[in-house]
Amino acid sequence: MIFEAMEVGIYGANCYIVASEETKEGAIIDPGADFNKIDNKIKELGIVPKMIILTHCHGDHIGAVEDLVNKYGLKVCIHDNDANALSDSRLNFTKSMFRKDISITADVLLKDGDIVNLGDLKLEIIHTPGHTQGGICIKVGNIMMTGDTLFRGSIGRTDFPGGSYEEIIRSIKEKIFKYDEDTVIYPGHMSPSTIKNEKLHNPFVKEA
Ligand SMILES: [Zn+2]
Ligand SMILES: [Zn+2]
Repeated sequence: MIFEAMEVGIYGANCYIVASEETKEGAIIDPGADFNKIDNKIKELGIVPKMIILTHCHGDHIGAVEDLVNKYGLKVCIHDNDANALSDSRLNFTKSMFRKDISITADVLLKDGDIVNLGDLKLEIIHTPGHTQGGICIKVGNIMMTGDTLFRGSIGRTDFPGGSYEEIIRSIKEKIFKYDEDTVIYPGHMSPSTIKNEKLHNPFVKEA
């Protein structure tokens, strides 16, 4: 598997590239900004991007979607519950964050348990509401991209529309923590961690 992480934009969102070593088919996860930086990485890796998968609808995760779609004709995938906000610049905060109206129509509506095939890779979609109603984590091999649901030592904000503190805690404990403790988590902001590390040290969800 080819896997690359890069921080993009003024809000420091993590954009990830996952691709099959075998077929070079790739997915761009949360292209939040900095189209040229992402595009250069695509060329450097020699991959053929096939789709964009969004962990959720917020502006800091979607800013380079339109440019990538225009260049590569990618399909945009997001959970069903965030598709409406993705197409509304007030609800996806691009209006307030960038004074720019970004409205994106999703091509593929994801739901919990979906498997997205990417060459020989299988990307597992895990619905983890709480930060937004349609937040997802994406697991491939030993890696889980957790968006703004679970961070190293912290959790996503729950004071936005559709957010719920009870729900995000439940999502993390019941949907994320059931996976192997050695799973490496790659969050939507800041540095990676492991499920084990978060179970031991994350003050919001650590196990007594
Ligand atoms: Zn967010
Ligand atoms: Zn974010």
